[in-house]
Amino acid sequence: MPRKISILGATGSIGQNTIDLIRREAHAYDVVALTGAGNIAQLAEDAKALKAEIAVTAREDLLDDLRDALSGSGIEAAAGSEAITEAASRPADWTMSAIIGAAGLAPGLAALRQGGTLALANKESLVCAGALIMGEAKRHGATILPVDSEHSAVFQALVGEDMAAVERVIITASGGAFRDWPLEDLANATLDQASNHPNWDMGQRITIDSASMFNKAMEVIETREFFGVSPEAIEVLVHPQSMIHALVGFCDGGLMAHVGPPDMRHAIGYALHHPQRAPLPVERLDLTKIGRFDFTAPDDARWPALRLAREVMAAGGLMGAVFNAAKEVALDGFIAGKLRFTEMAEIVEEVLDARASDASLGRGSDDMTLDLVGQADHLARKAAEAAIQKRAG
Ligand code: NAD
Ligand code: MG
Repeated sequence: MPRKISILGATGSIGQNTIDLIRREAHAYDVVALTGAGNIAQLAEDAKALKAEIAVTAREDLLDDLRDALSGSGIEAAAGSEAITEAASRPADWTMSAIIGAAGLAPGLAALRQGGTLALANKESLVCAGALIMGEAKRHGATILPVDSEHSAVFQALVGEDMAAVERVIITASGGAFRDWPLEDLANATLDQASNHPNWDMGQRITIDSASMFNKAMEVIETREFFGVSPEAIEVLVHPQSMIHALVGFCDGGLMAHVGPPDMRHAIGYALHHPQRAPLPVERLDLTKIGRFDFTAPDDARWPALRLAREVMAAGGLMGAVFNAAKEVALDGFIAGKLRFTEMAEIVEEVLDARASDASLGRGSDDMTLDLVGQADHLARKAAEAAIQKRAG
């Protein structure tokens, strides 16, 4: 029986890597939903090639274009964020959650509520609403498999282990585009410079987040929410080669490291075939050619985002949603040329400080709802926009 699968964010970097894998064994899958946003040609082409049941664009203004591109194929077309959530709730055994940003939260939850498997690339879901996501997965008997290279690595290092024996979890960071830049040059870093990752080929937003370490900051929170380890047990290690993705330290002093090429098809393929392993079309590392692995401690002055992540974890509750939303708006500001590279962290910190006194944000995880997360997200976006406006004026 082919497995029913859906891909949310099919036209993005993770989505396209997922499609690359499933096209190699297309007979094994029945594709239910593919979703995208502005790239209608790609969405329609993949929907036709994979014989999807429905294709959905986030952009309501592009519905006619999508209909035209799919005409005669018999594939349903739909548009808008509600249509994406509706498509995500259609029965599927395995769903890839690879929309970028907080927009991935509601569709991911809808998929989880079917009780199947959610391959989770959208780390923002866990940053904004970790308690909600993990709680709903439990309630509906769903399985979440991490599709972030570091978290897939930790997950693999934990197979057969007892969490009580885990002393620490170390996730690595390449250091991004500006690892070796003089600190005083960071403020003048351009969009082009920030959009070039030394090791990974990813979407533009996560690439810039890698240069600022906001990506790693979110991954620290993701580690806490997904594996339930305490913030003090999570470490970040700068490792420029991006081949050791994570290490788990146990109470007997042993460290289990996961080593692999910087290719997301490994983490995606692991989640696709779990609990089995299957051959994947990724490079086999020749360690004699690589010769050495380097490690350094992250520099807090260069990457204030890591300190902010600690503050967010200490505050708990809805502060993750505030953090993520402020970061998304600050990133938009940098991309639009309204903010300098270093101002992104300043804006996020201002928003966190302003909201820190709001007691309702620190509420317990039991009463976290999609609405409350949405409210916290909305307030933080407005606060971040106002902070950016203030600098401009
Ligand atoms: P991307 O920008 O390449 O693709 C994003 C996808 O989301 C596209 O299909 C786009 O059409 C869709 N999308 C954009 N805005 C949307 C909206 N408002 N509503 C619905 N859909 C929308 O992003 P990516 O690099 O593939 O990253 C996707 C997710 O995976 C992110 O959460 C990212 O943090 C995570 N991730 C990515 C990588 C990577 O290698 N790219 C690695 C680890 C984790
Ligand atoms: Mg990662």
